[in-house]
Amino acid sequence: MDINDKNATDKDGDKPNIAFIGLGNMGAPMAENLLKAGYTLCVYDLSQAATERLQQVGASVASSPIEAARHAQVVISMLPAGKHVHSVYLGENGSNGLLTELPKGTLVIDSSTIAAADAIKVAEAASQLGVDFLDAPVSGGTGGAIAGSLTFIVGGSDEAFAKAQPMLAVMGKNIFHAGDQGAGQVAKICNNMLLGILMAGTAEAINLGVKNGLDPKVLSDIMLQSSGRNWTLEVYNPYPQVMENVPSSNGYQGGFMSKLMQKDLNLAMQTAQDTNVETPMGSKAAELYEAHTVENGDKDFSSIMGRHDHSVLF
Ligand code: NAD
Repeated sequence: MDINDKNATDKDGDKPNIAFIGLGNMGAPMAENLLKAGYTLCVYDLSQAATERLQQVGASVASSPIEAARHAQVVISMLPAGKHVHSVYLGENGSNGLLTELPKGTLVIDSSTIAAADAIKVAEAASQLGVDFLDAPVSGGTGGAIAGSLTFIVGGSDEAFAKAQPMLAVMGKNIFHAGDQGAGQVAKICNNMLLGILMAGTAEAINLGVKNGLDPKVLSDIMLQSSGRNWTLEVYNPYPQVMENVPSSNGYQGGFMSKLMQKDLNLAMQTAQDTNVETPMGSKAAELYEAHTVENGDKDFSSIMGRHDHSVLF
């Protein structure tokens, strides 16, 4: 089916039908925002509870990815990791996945955070079948997914990017075209590797000050106006009660879980290894988060502060 074929579109005429696969913490609110914007969605998830929630707000429910995509011109996925993305699109044996069932010209947008190499593998299989593939990982967390204010970092062709834009604009506020296929994933993990380094470094600096008698708020204010200034000091201070309305002042609940930061740091390390690039700071941050997540994986990633000052975790 041609995405530009008006007969193939939904009741709103110019909006393509969408198959949405993966309705977890991120996928469910993203799908809901598309429904609210008038798109027709057929959804699939392994979890029945997840699909029921979407059914209640107007989606139809499929019993497989192939069934979900039967009348779709666009497929969007939001899955946990590369192996799930491969299993959906390439199939268990690499040739019996959803891609082989999609008509030429279908647009696939995968917003899962996965290794660039994994995204490129799916993209190459897609282009052999005449299917357009975009890797479009997001930042902004569940709050951004609910508010429709995610940042999309997209890799793929100009044409596919242009086709995706109206749907991405419903789910997000900032939409970047990072480059060719895989570039979205690379850009996202570069950003998150830097964020992990900045958070671990900021926690370390505040701890050094506090252990030498400084008030964490006074020290944070000084660094905020000095050359150590960074995003974590501006809006996400890791030390409890320095800032209001951040996870550190709320028992490190909510926000971006340490285990997700660890996942992204591991993806960065995998990409660095695959491409022979040295990342000594990233590798140290990955090591710190690996140890931290053993007991604190569900706490916000600023809880890395507790590595220095265990009392802040309680
Ligand atoms: P989640 O675990 O809440 O949801 C994943 C969903 O995928 C689940 O409902 C699960 O049942 C479903 N699923 C798993 N395998 C499937 C399959 N084969 N077919 C269909 N459904 C399947 O995860 P999430 O928090 O929504 O994250 C999704 C992606 O977004 C991840 O790649 C994550 O790294 C990325 N991400 C998450 C956040 C966040 O704050 N949660 C922020 C940015 C990016």
